[in-house]
Amino acid sequence: MEERILGLHHITAIAGDTQKNYDFYTKVLGLRLVKKTVNFDDPGTYHLYYGDDKGSPGTILTFFPWTNVRPGVEGTGMATAIGYSIPVGSLNFWTKRFQENNVIFGKPGNRFGEVYLPFKDPDGLSLELIMPDGPDARKGWHTNDIPDNAAIQGFHSVTLTLNDVKPTGAILTDIFGYKLYKQEGRFYQYKTDAVKEAALVNIIEIPDGKRGQVAGGTNHHVAFRVPDENTLMHFRDKVVKKGFNITPKIDRNYFYSLYFREPGGVLFEIATDNPGFAIDESPEELGLNLKLPEQYEDQRSAIEQVLPPLVQ
Ligand code: ZN
Repeated sequence: MEERILGLHHITAIAGDTQKNYDFYTKVLGLRLVKKTVNFDDPGTYHLYYGDDKGSPGTILTFFPWTNVRPGVEGTGMATAIGYSIPVGSLNFWTKRFQENNVIFGKPGNRFGEVYLPFKDPDGLSLELIMPDGPDARKGWHTNDIPDNAAIQGFHSVTLTLNDVKPTGAILTDIFGYKLYKQEGRFYQYKTDAVKEAALVNIIEIPDGKRGQVAGGTNHHVAFRVPDENTLMHFRDKVVKKGFNITPKIDRNYFYSLYFREPGGVLFEIATDNPGFAIDESPEELGLNLKLPEQYEDQRSAIEQVLPPLVQ
């Protein structure tokens, strides 16, 4: 059977202040910091991974926090909204929680029969809490002040804003195995039935939209999920055959990755389930210790001095 992408793996965005980022995602939203490491291409910067208890693919939002980063500009050629699933009936809990924590949020809306609540993180990154119209069996991370029946369950969707839906839509359908699922005006929703959750990609088409600028408070890339390295290389062949440039396989310690710039301008990554976040920390200790890839371990004390303090 033809291999298909297993929905979203992770999304990576750019933040400013590390502590504010940590406090927002772990305390206000109640996600688990599952890995504290550095940007492998810039080891003086953290790379923080937030997700469910294990950091399951389809729940992982990661950040490169750069203190005093210039703010980015939302526009075309980028992912412009991250959608999280929340349990049915939990919208009031979240609205109240956002009010109490001075989170910037908008009015709840309805898209294709699903209620969503748009909000911003401290750097202005656009996110949504969405009550899916079907069951979402995933269990969110447990914290003291967020009841289990309100905990964020993982990604529902990612939204890309593009000048032209067609070339990117073709990547999703012809290479990744998604199908155009719903459409209303310039809003297109693609879905894969290879997985039940984190299975949606939205595209907003704005033909004359201005190009966005990736910097603070914007998304850097969107990673799609494959089970293993064999499948990863199979997708590499498929992307190459369509005439796109794609990187060789890169070892990201917690997964193996390929990157390519899709024709609409968004940086896409394909990432494996293996080996996962428990490769260098026990499941109980995930996110508590600064983990460095082997190539930086001998620079640990210098790196620790450069990284901003983070109180957990
Ligand atoms: Zn990535």
